[in-house]
Amino acid sequence: MKKKYLLAPGPTPVPERALLAMAAPMIHHRTPQFSAIFREAADLLKYVFQTQQDVLILAASGTGAMEGSIVNLYSPGDEVIVVNGGKFGERWGKISEAYGLKVHWITVEWGKAVDPAVIKKALDENPNVKGVLVQASETSTTAAHPIKELAALTKDRNCLLIVDGITAVGVFDLPMDEWGIDVLVSGSQKAFMLPPGLAFAALSEKAWKFQETAKCPKFYFDFKKERKNLKDNTTAYTPAVSLITGLREALMQIKEEGLENVFKRHDRLARATKAAAAALDLKLLAPESPSNAATGVFVPEGVDGGKLVKYLRDEMGVTLAGGQDHLKGKILRIAHLGYVDTFDILTSIAAIEIAFNKFGHKVPYGKGVGAAQEILAEGYK
Ligand SMILES: *Cc1c(COP(=O)(O)O)cnc(C)c1O
Repeated sequence: MKKKYLLAPGPTPVPERALLAMAAPMIHHRTPQFSAIFREAADLLKYVFQTQQDVLILAASGTGAMEGSIVNLYSPGDEVIVVNGGKFGERWGKISEAYGLKVHWITVEWGKAVDPAVIKKALDENPNVKGVLVQASETSTTAAHPIKELAALTKDRNCLLIVDGITAVGVFDLPMDEWGIDVLVSGSQKAFMLPPGLAFAALSEKAWKFQETAKCPKFYFDFKKERKNLKDNTTAYTPAVSLITGLREALMQIKEEGLENVFKRHDRLARATKAAAAALDLKLLAPESPSNAATGVFVPEGVDGGKLVKYLRDEMGVTLAGGQDHLKGKILRIAHLGYVDTFDILTSIAAIEIAFNKFGHKVPYGKGVGAAQEILAEGYK
């Protein structure tokens, strides 16, 4: 027998109470019974997004909310700035170009955060730019971008700050209304602790103004139509009934823990993982501005990262993530977001120690685990 541990930056483990809720017999979606569940989930989403605005619930993976944001706010020919510091930044640009927007690419070295001064300069030089598209947490490089600083730049311009918070919402503090984020999107399979299949999007008043004149073609991802339906406690098309039933349960769990404590837990798990990396002499991929969603480390010289990830998964039952593009085979990403706690981190560090030794990279057993334990102990009275 081999027990399985899912420690990837999405999909993430699903809490038992959400699994049970989703196993309930199917109900019809145009019923008071479903509307009540939907309403509760929609209200709890506002709490997690830290907004007074409606949070739209779409049946799609996270990318659906990204695409929806573009098509509902812009017209072909509109100019946007895209922060491209990894796979997901690149995705903002690809979606924009697919709809005929003119993209000003700001390339950021993988593992680094964008410098707000660079964005300010680009905005000053291109007064027609109507949007800055960025990740709060660039999952492919485990770096976090400075959203608060970027929001200060777009606030007084005819320009929206559009934030992919897919591995940030419910991980670290990202107060949408307070900071002036115009669009915040997320997805179910990350910190929301659910299976893939739901995407979320919230828009500021300023963004809803942009929506009125946007001419990109759209049908399924029509935010205006979704907002109207949300007010009636339903969705435009058949909602993902089971996922929304699970969503209510997962959001209740977040509410019970308290958002502040959720952030503290993620911070503790991230610090413990970094302490383990330091103890094992592993170089961090994003040392200056790390995201609390996942920690990226370079695999030691002489170890094939691709084979290591496969070994951890197939031989040991521990799913971590490797690297993409030019980082393929070179890094390990240890995720610590969602339904993850002390012993998940210790499991992943212990598994890495065993795998390193099996791969001929000798490390003393317990060295990384011990360093992580020192920090994880803070979580107990
Ligand atoms: C997971 C993720 C996405 C969405 O990917 P989907 O596969 O469409 O759910 C987008 N951005 C970031 C930063 C992510 O981590």
